[in-house]
Amino acid sequence: MPVLLLIGAGHAHLYVVKHAADLAAAGYRVLLLAPRFFDYSGVASATAAGEMSSSAGRIDVRSLASTSSVEFHEGTLESLDPQARIAVTSRGDRLSYDVLSLNIGSVVAPAGMNVHPTVVRVKPLSGLADLDARLRASEQQGVTVTVVGGGASGLELAAHLSVRSGVANVRLVESGAVIGAGLPAGARRRIGRLLARRGVAVRTGCVVRDLGERSLVCDDGTEMTYDVAVLATGLTAPPLLAQLGVGDERGVPVRATLQMVDRDDIYSVGDCALFLPGPLPRVGVHGVRQGPVLQRSLLARLRGEPLPVYEPQRRALSILDLGNGVGLAVRGRWWWYGAGSLRLKRYIDQRWLKIYQQ
Ligand SMILES: Cc1cc2nc3c(=O)[nH]c(=O)nc-3n(C[C@H](O)[C@H](O)[C@H](O)COP(=O)(O)OP(=O)(O)OC[C@H]3O[C@@H](n4cnc5c(N)ncnc54)[C@H](O)[C@@H]3O)c2cc1C
Repeated sequence: MPVLLLIGAGHAHLYVVKHAADLAAAGYRVLLLAPRFFDYSGVASATAAGEMSSSAGRIDVRSLASTSSVEFHEGTLESLDPQARIAVTSRGDRLSYDVLSLNIGSVVAPAGMNVHPTVVRVKPLSGLADLDARLRASEQQGVTVTVVGGGASGLELAAHLSVRSGVANVRLVESGAVIGAGLPAGARRRIGRLLARRGVAVRTGCVVRDLGERSLVCDDGTEMTYDVAVLATGLTAPPLLAQLGVGDERGVPVRATLQMVDRDDIYSVGDCALFLPGPLPRVGVHGVRQGPVLQRSLLARLRGEPLPVYEPQRRALSILDLGNGVGLAVRGRWWWYGAGSLRLKRYIDQRWLKIYQQ
């Protein structure tokens, strides 16, 4: 009986676990190595800022695996021997496999700066979850927060924190000339006005060199102080992949079939993969859409059929949650700001979460 080992319960693997009965019927023994809980990033800014409860985006992976007859190993991947096909877990277990799939997500890109360990990192989401607790602990004093990085997650967090009670000041620091560089110009201006109205101090053109516990220093020598710093400088593949020898900071290099470039027995999906036909932005939608492709591929290889390929959407819808009931929906050059955008986001997120939160 071929053993399929799924590492990480990211979006694509959650789909495979949910549909594991088909894999078992086809002859696989399915193993999953992952932390007990998965946290959904679509509600991460709202939970981190205390607007939603921390359980709102939480999926109990162990319970999902047990209802799908998947053998669950709680923990993380520590080391891998691709030749012998053995994975070693954080608990010291050695798991043999015939086919392996990696879906372990991403981490914040350190962007060449020295970062103090107390700085809150937006990814992995377990780090971001600390933010609410830290803000609660010092709520009485009126906290000053600095968010470093003016991309999607930095904008979401700065906007959310600016309306959170107990936060006195929010500063958003960006190395480039503008915040929200990937957004259409009109949407960028709209967010700029929102942040200004909410009192967020935006500082562009500041390349942070040292991000300390209470102060940062930019390349030009400018210093800024704060109580809490949040690092949101974009996402990169986990350093573990390079240590395992299956990739680098761009991810595990995969073909359109989602198989590693030189190994048919290793798949990689979501943020930890480098999709060689054309690099993909690190957004959840690709993991979600790759799930069914991975599932079909696993079945096809047992039957000796041609393997399906992943064809990414050219322009995907993304919606920023900006706190206080408003969102910004963007698709290509089209954008829509307001309460309706956030309602649409909540609807999409809840529909997805409902599938996996039992
Ligand atoms: C604040 C914030 C908000 C975001 N909002 C959105 C949004 O609204 N929409 C959107 O599309 N994207 C959003 N993103 C991007 C999104 O988080 C990622 O693109 C998405 O989570 C990637 O999905 P994934 O399945 O590849 O990995 P993940 O969702 O990160 O899942 C990977 C899983 O693997 C586990 N894992 C990690 N290391 C190991 C290991 N060594 N062994 C075993 N398991 C491991 C992790 O615990 C995690 O559960 C946001 C990101 C941030 C930081």
